[in-house]
This record gives sequence, C-alpha cells and structure tokens, in this order.
Amino acid sequence: MGQHLDEGKILNVLKLEKDVDGFHPLNMGNLAMRGRDPLFIPCTPKGCIELLIRSSVEIMGKNAVVIGRSNIVGLPISLLLQRHHATVTIVHAFTKNPEQIAREADIVVTAAGVPNLVRGNWLKPGAAVIDVGTFPVEDPSCENGYRLIGDVCYEEASKVASAITPVPGGVGPMTIAMLLSNTLDSAKRAYDFT
Ligand code: NAD
Repeated sequence: MGQHLDEGKILNVLKLEKDVDGFHPLNMGNLAMRGRDPLFIPCTPKGCIELLIRSSVEIMGKNAVVIGRSNIVGLPISLLLQRHHATVTIVHAFTKNPEQIAREADIVVTAAGVPNLVRGNWLKPGAAVIDVGTFPVEDPSCENGYRLIGDVCYEEASKVASAITPVPGGVGPMTIAMLLSNTLDSAKRAYDFT
C-alpha cells in the first residue's frame, strides 16, 4: 500500500459487506474465532487452501508450517489451516532454526518475500509446498524488464516435494480468481440473489 494511504483508516470506513479482500478487523476476527464465519476470506490465503484441496493434499491432522505472519497473507493462512484442522507453526523473521521447523512440515506455505529462502534441504520428502512470495529481479529478456521469483528454490524443492506451486503462475492467478469469487458473493448478497 502507498505510504500516503492510511491502512487503518481505510479499513475502518470500509463497509463489511464490501470487504472482498477480507481485511476488515471484524472479518479477520471472525476468521480467527471458532464458531464464527467471516463474510469474506482473504483472497491469497483462500487460493492457497483451494490449491491444496483441489490437489488432494490432506490438511486435517497434518503439520503445516507458515513462513511469514503479515495481516494479509501469513496470519490468515495460518488461521485457515487451523480451521482445516492442521497443526500450525508460524515461522517469521525472528524465528531461530527455521529450516529445522520447516523440515517437520507436511505442508509448507511461504510468504516472506525473500527469494530462494526455502531450499530443498528445508523440506521433508513428500511435503506439499505453496510459494506465495514474489520478488522482482531485473531481466532484460522479459517484456517489462523484470521477472518474479518466489521464496522457494524451485530447482531443489521440486525434487523433494510431492506438490509445489511455481512462481509465477501458481498462487498469483488463484488470488485473482478468489477476488472475483468474493466480489461475486458480495454482489449476490447486496442484491439478495442466492
Ligand atoms: P510482508 O513484508 O508484510 O511480510 C513478510 C513476512 O515474512 C513477515 O511476517 C516477516 O516476519 C516474514 N519474514 C521476512 N523475512 C523472513 C525470513 N528471512 N525468514 C522467515 N520469515 C521472514 O509481506 P506480505 O505482504 O505478507 O507478502 C509476502 C510475499 O508474498 C511478498 O513477496 C509479496 O509480494 C507476496 N504476495 C504474493 C501474492 C500473490 O498473489 N502471489 C499476494 C500477496 C503477497
């Protein structure tokens, strides 16, 4: 978000029914609490869970490690994985021995924005890996002069993982699809159309 914009102020004036990103504190709070349901689930986290489910990756009872704890990605992903009954560990910039923690995981979701942070030897063989990170690196051969790389060293990780999302072309398109889906839900609710 641009520095001239006050994130807190904007969230406070946003109508809950139009919060298609699911970032309003009430939607986030309802996501966190058992027995409650948010009106919207944040798009990137929702896309990550959708990818796991549609790839038949079991979540219930599995160890999941989420790298990153931001309000828009890491935190809601960890809440969603808990809702799906995973045992969730959160790794962040101050975590000691992140590779040791990641190696315990059946599912690794990484959203740190640190290129090639997760190496092949961070992963348990057969783990499912969702790479949310995107980091632009200069590449004159690309149309816009740069290309995106993820948090995961794909070359190494793809040899160890049972499933892995590429960057680009993995989580990004899913985020867009989930935003469209949330927007459609919002419109249906607004017009009493179910
Ligand atoms: P952020 O900077 O707000 O948060 C990064 C998080 O990573 C923090 O919680 C920090 O503690 C943690 N972190 C930083 N360095 C770390 C390290 N070395 N080890 C472990 N944890 C570390 O970023 P964000 O908004 O959550 O986005 C994360 C990444 O995901 C970025 O690269 C962003 O571009 C990308 N992103 C992609 C999509 C998509 O649709 N593909 C959507 C949103 C964000």
